[in-house]
Amino acid sequence: MCGIYVAVCDDAQEKVLAGLKRLEYRGYDSWGVAVVSDTALHIEKYVGQIGAVQELLLPSTRVALGHTRWATHGGVTQANAHPHSASDDSFVLVQNGVVENYQELKASLKTEGYEFVSQTDTEVIVRLLEKEMKKGGEELPSRTSFQATMDQLEGRSTVAVLAQNNLLLLYRNGSPLVLGKNKKGAVFCSSDVLSMAGDATEYYTVENGEVVTISPTGEVVCFTTSSDEPVVMRYKKIDVEAHTIDKNGYAHYMLKEIFDQGQVLLQVTNQPAAELKKTVSYIKNARMVYTLGAGSASFAAQFLSFQLRQLGIQSDSLPSYEARSFQSLFQKDDVVIVFSQSGETADTNEVVEWMKKQGVKVVSIVNMLGSTLTRLSDSPHMLQVGPEVAIASTKALSGQLVWSLFIAWLVAGKSEQDFRKQLQVYQAHLQEWLESTSLQHQLEELSVQLLQHNQMFILGRGQLHTSALEFALKMKEISYIHAEGFSGGELKHGVIALISSGTPVFCLIAQDSEKADMLSAAAEVRARGGWVVGVARENNELFSEWIQLPEDELFVAISSFVPAQLLTYYLALKHGFDPDKPRNLAKSVTVK
Ligand code: GLU
Repeated sequence: MCGIYVAVCDDAQEKVLAGLKRLEYRGYDSWGVAVVSDTALHIEKYVGQIGAVQELLLPSTRVALGHTRWATHGGVTQANAHPHSASDDSFVLVQNGVVENYQELKASLKTEGYEFVSQTDTEVIVRLLEKEMKKGGEELPSRTSFQATMDQLEGRSTVAVLAQNNLLLLYRNGSPLVLGKNKKGAVFCSSDVLSMAGDATEYYTVENGEVVTISPTGEVVCFTTSSDEPVVMRYKKIDVEAHTIDKNGYAHYMLKEIFDQGQVLLQVTNQPAAELKKTVSYIKNARMVYTLGAGSASFAAQFLSFQLRQLGIQSDSLPSYEARSFQSLFQKDDVVIVFSQSGETADTNEVVEWMKKQGVKVVSIVNMLGSTLTRLSDSPHMLQVGPEVAIASTKALSGQLVWSLFIAWLVAGKSEQDFRKQLQVYQAHLQEWLESTSLQHQLEELSVQLLQHNQMFILGRGQLHTSALEFALKMKEISYIHAEGFSGGELKHGVIALISSGTPVFCLIAQDSEKADMLSAAAEVRARGGWVVGVARENNELFSEWIQLPEDELFVAISSFVPAQLLTYYLALKHGFDPDKPRNLAKSVTVK
């Protein structure tokens, strides 16, 4: 979701263009780049994808600022795309986030005579900064007027300004901002570390509330809003290889990441022993274990809660965006276990911040290096499944489920080594299964049959309930089919009214105590003419189609949604959709 890229080096505009392309995976609808040349600001802005753009029309400079926008306020138009300029062209400004009080601010600025040329909340920040500059008698923005402007914004906004004298002013509140540098003295700033991997060798994550100034020659100084003393910035080494962020010969990132699952899941268990011990002890000593996440990560949260409840531990999962209503529940001896691929999910981090204030212990599992969530955590864990670039989660969710099973296994007092052994065997089976041409052909054929359908249902019970939800989400996100996941038990309480002749119903079935009831649900669907696709270890006469799962029952929750990843991928291709960039969606959901 929305990205900022800044470069201070030779041919900075080219670096920014390439940087924005690397941020593309986050999802956006329009983009723009600004530079200063001959003391005048030049801007290029477009609606749509950066895709094949090789070169900008902008002059070559040493300082450039770029932005990819995911519209929150105002339509997707060139006028609403960032950067936005000051009326006298003294600076340009980009924003990630939302100005929650933009209506009040805009109304009052209008009465003072300020004029607006876009529908964005961002432009309010531009006019406010102009007003602050006027107050201070400034011709160009300074840290003082910039900070005074930021102080008036409600909600979360990360902002970058490029002034006509090539001074850069940056402020982080919410959406991430990471500074980078290399041995040649080049300076960068981006919305994530990953996108800087080819340009910078070291990074510093700007904290919420920090203001950074970058001089035209690349001197970086960072301040907190409360002091004029510069912050000591401790840079860390970027140890992601730039080449790990490519498609590796696959047609799409999504396909690559689906196949990665046969190789990366074992890495999830490589957790520092001290952190594992801490997490297990937090769980065992908690009054209540909450689990938290949004989107696919909320299914991982539900799955872990299910596993813990099975062990007799009080646990409940909360979708992050619904947690506010339960604020009064949280207590000092509670624990929250938080799932987020990026560690920057705005809905999630906001909850974590106020849970922390109430003394709740925070455990997290994050895939991205240097994230806000990791830094907020008492016991942070890294997922280590490698960069996930496609917008829809595949290997990150599988990794989150592996981690959940691992943690539950350890809480139950079982051997770490045994878990790893079983996982190693499963990973090999998963790889074999994914690579088997019979599975690929079967799913491809199935996708042809599904082309005519615009709705489907997915049923799963017990440990496979969340897999059914994920299965449905993948169909929605990538092939835009109205798919709903339900507990198999829910069927006769309402959903069955929607089943008619030929309605596709996927039944996810494990070899566990829920199997008999799931088969009854399949029979009930079949009796009403529904088209039953069994996703199970064993075939059954009730199935019109059978997707055979590998034998590893411990990991059946993962195996049962993996077919949906390939199926939805094939369907998207047949419909002519881009599986890596589904419409309206963004990867790192940094706005609420
Ligand atoms: N709220 C701003 C807009 O709609 C910024 C969105 C973003 O973070 O990209 O333009």
